[in-house]
Amino acid sequence: MLDIHWIRDHAAEAQAAADNKGIEVSVEECLQQDEQRRKLLQEIESLRRQRNEGSVQVAKLMHTGHTEEAEQYKAQLKQLNERISEGTAQLDAVNLALERLLLLMPNVPSPDTPVGRSDADNVEVRSWGTPPEWTFEPLDHMELGTRHDMIDIPRGVKVGGSRSYYLKGLGLLYHRAVQQLALDMLLEHGFTPLDVPLMVREENMVNTGFFPTGRDQAYAIKDEELWMVGTAEVPLVSYYGGEVVEASQPIKLAGVSNCFRSEVGSAGRDVRGLYRVHQFAKVEMVIICQPDPALSERMLQEITSHSEQLLQALELPYRVMSVCSGDMSQKTYKQYDIETWMPSRGAYGETHSASDLHSFQARRSNIRCRDEQGKLQYCYTLNNTAVASPRILIPLLENHQREDGSIYVPPALRQYLGGRSELVLR
Ligand code: AMP
Repeated sequence: MLDIHWIRDHAAEAQAAADNKGIEVSVEECLQQDEQRRKLLQEIESLRRQRNEGSVQVAKLMHTGHTEEAEQYKAQLKQLNERISEGTAQLDAVNLALERLLLLMPNVPSPDTPVGRSDADNVEVRSWGTPPEWTFEPLDHMELGTRHDMIDIPRGVKVGGSRSYYLKGLGLLYHRAVQQLALDMLLEHGFTPLDVPLMVREENMVNTGFFPTGRDQAYAIKDEELWMVGTAEVPLVSYYGGEVVEASQPIKLAGVSNCFRSEVGSAGRDVRGLYRVHQFAKVEMVIICQPDPALSERMLQEITSHSEQLLQALELPYRVMSVCSGDMSQKTYKQYDIETWMPSRGAYGETHSASDLHSFQARRSNIRCRDEQGKLQYCYTLNNTAVASPRILIPLLENHQREDGSIYVPPALRQYLGGRSELVLR
């Protein structure tokens, strides 16, 4: 959420941000509602003053026996009360409309964010590793997963419908191994691990910036006022919702959770395999820190490097992309996506996403800290993927396959896979 005072002074900048992010919201309409709100507030205040003065006057007149005059004043007071009620009802409606508009107003992207419409306009910042060159016909993760009896998509679809899957035997062990490796790395970097609620109240979806814009992406729990989370970012940030936190050092949280996404709008896209599914697991980082742009920039670089460390340990070629205005979400100030080489796609595919939100999320969630002068300020928040599985299994199985059908296991994973250095066909 942007500060309305800031919007008043930076209307053109706010509108440009909405336009560049492809979000349909009118700053002018927002300012009109704000103006109307302020007018009504003043009017109601003045009416209330008149009413209070009138009441004192009535009491005096009654006390001095001027009953007739007092009755006239009472009639005026009645009219004032009616006008106050009308004004208050109007104010409620204007507040609602303003709130609705403010919830849609996007964060302003950082000055170094590329302006663009879609992921095609994202800009590569750096890359690591080289995509493998094959001396044999490589298989995709589904074929590899079937041969090793690790992935069963047909039965997943039979039981769970489209975009469902089973991970079986070593499939499940791999899924858990990457998550444990990611979590262990985050523990070394000082993160506090949390198991989080997967069903949350609607206000937390709004406060963390996922609603109202992403409402159709989430699953509601019928007959309960709860929603399934699409990422642990929601319960991690909301953990401190409405609180004043001690943030002299950045607060570093690591959530491990399943994630549920309707993927509305992705019909027909990535329908084969494990790339885009309705339910997946993610180890997520969240940072809550002092509202200092230099500090949050440092944190963004740091959390991005944690994901890179994991991909290097998994020996997977990747590239870091600076995400353009049109491809970032409403809440984001600055974003890097990491894309990992996926042989079956013949392309890099997104596996990680790191975002700096500045105070956008903390303002909505009312998370504050004291600055050096002891003044309360909204914190800054950031988040990033440590690992998301099963999507990461795509590059992991495909890049490390060998001609004889075996799959090489990088040393970093072996301790979680019973010491195996390869998966062999039985
Ligand atoms: P996000 O929370 O949208 O930034 O996504 C973080 C990561 O979660 C992505 O980079 C993917 O690795 C993974 N992910 C997101 N959506 C899906 C999905 N529908 N199916 C599988 N993995 C996903």
